[in-house]
Amino acid sequence: MKPDAPVVVVGGGWAGLAASVTLARQGIPVRLLESARQLGGRARSVQIDGQTLDNGQHLLLGAYESTLDLLRLLDVAEDAVFLRRPLNLSLRHADGHALHLRTAALPAPLHLAWGLLNARGLRPAERFAALRFSHALQRQDFSLDEDQSVATLLHQHRQPPALIEGLWQPLCLGALNTHLHEASAQIFLRTLGESFRYNRRDSDLLFTRRPLGEILPTPAMDYIERHGGRVHLGQRVSGLQRRGGRITGVLTNRGPQAASQVILATPPSATLALLQTQPALHAEAGRLAQLAQYPICTIYLRYPAQVRLPQPMLGSLGSLGQWVFDRRLYGQPGLMAVVISGDGPHMALDNAQLATRVSGELARLFPAWPAPQAHQIIREKRATLAARVGVNALRPSHATALEGLWLAGDYTDTGLPATLEGAVRSGLGAAQAVARRPSTPTPGNRP
Ligand SMILES: Cc1cc2nc3c(=O)[nH]c(=O)nc-3n(C[C@H](O)[C@H](O)[C@H](O)COP(=O)(O)OP(=O)(O)OC[C@H]3O[C@@H](n4cnc5c(N)ncnc54)[C@H](O)[C@@H]3O)c2cc1C
Repeated sequence: MKPDAPVVVVGGGWAGLAASVTLARQGIPVRLLESARQLGGRARSVQIDGQTLDNGQHLLLGAYESTLDLLRLLDVAEDAVFLRRPLNLSLRHADGHALHLRTAALPAPLHLAWGLLNARGLRPAERFAALRFSHALQRQDFSLDEDQSVATLLHQHRQPPALIEGLWQPLCLGALNTHLHEASAQIFLRTLGESFRYNRRDSDLLFTRRPLGEILPTPAMDYIERHGGRVHLGQRVSGLQRRGGRITGVLTNRGPQAASQVILATPPSATLALLQTQPALHAEAGRLAQLAQYPICTIYLRYPAQVRLPQPMLGSLGSLGQWVFDRRLYGQPGLMAVVISGDGPHMALDNAQLATRVSGELARLFPAWPAPQAHQIIREKRATLAARVGVNALRPSHATALEGLWLAGDYTDTGLPATLEGAVRSGLGAAQAVARRPSTPTPGNRP
């Protein structure tokens, strides 16, 4: 394919970056337009009071195959940016009750079976119920023909309340950013299947040890530019140009940009606004309008440098704060990142109230800790797709009714929750679709 205008990728989040790298690698001229002054989208670094933080604490899994492949292509050494640890979950309640689950050095899925049978903090009946559930899921290949809520699925598999509250609810909320009474069991099972079905290393936890911006955005930008592509920051796309049933370019705040094909790798709300400008795309826009988003809140608490967690991440039960990450790994000793996924009463609290509540919860878990010296709160109100029952049927595929216009992003029909891996896989898929489609010349609309 030798287009006379570049393929334009709109949006420099992880989906748009994956798409642009894939196109550049194949020698296809690509121009990436990002409205912000930096790349990364919902997984980016931010500078606050002279320190580099992430817009939200991110955790990756060994099952993030496409992301890890992409990083290898970019020459990013895994151990330079991640600390990989076999799954080892510790969830504590302020009343002293705790649950510990760790996988064994056995082939999958025995590593999980061993973990469930030997989990500490569960009664024997709860361990067997968890094991029975995991066997049943394996028999049905971690898939469900008809979607239902995770709560219904757990009820059908007779999971005891202590197991639901102590393990399944935190896992579901952490993975899907959606509470289990409305979370899609299809998406939950897909996540469990990808993590536990094939290879023991798939369920490893990958803790980031570098700012998000250094992990993918910067190396991807270098790669794209070294391979003849161009990356433009501060370029907002406000409209689509077409001739007949085919896309010919985009309108930006710097003027029109001709394109042989266009990948919209923008979040659902921005994609919806762009699709709505084209009558031919009203059906797609109508489905997109039905997708809801849920927030994720990250509360950074600064303690004296000697304060540390017993492990890189800890679950907190019966509290507003759900997971606590020790930023010592990132060279920020004493800094804790407390994550609250999904909607909830915390969104009605102001930042000072929220910091007080969450630091009070940590004080009950760790009575020896002094009070935090400072806090920073980052609320991402539209952090991810609400992974509700039936949502997979609404998620769009790459192709649209306008020839040469493709969609990419974590919200598309990957079957996965809205995650980094979903975004990367979607970006790769859209780039492959572009590469397969012969382009037509795009007269006019020259930059
Ligand atoms: C706080 C938080 C915590 C998270 N934790 C995890 C985690 O632990 N693990 C995990 O796997 N995932 C996590 N996620 C989800 C993950 O970050 C997202 O799934 C992923 O970053 C989405 O990437 P994307 O490229 O699809 O979209 P985005 O990152 O939203 O990228 C879209 C880009 O398009 C740009 N854009 C928008 N409109 C325009 C326009 N008109 N013109 C040009 N550019 C435009 C935006 O600025 C943005 O850069 C988390 C998300 C958040 C917010």
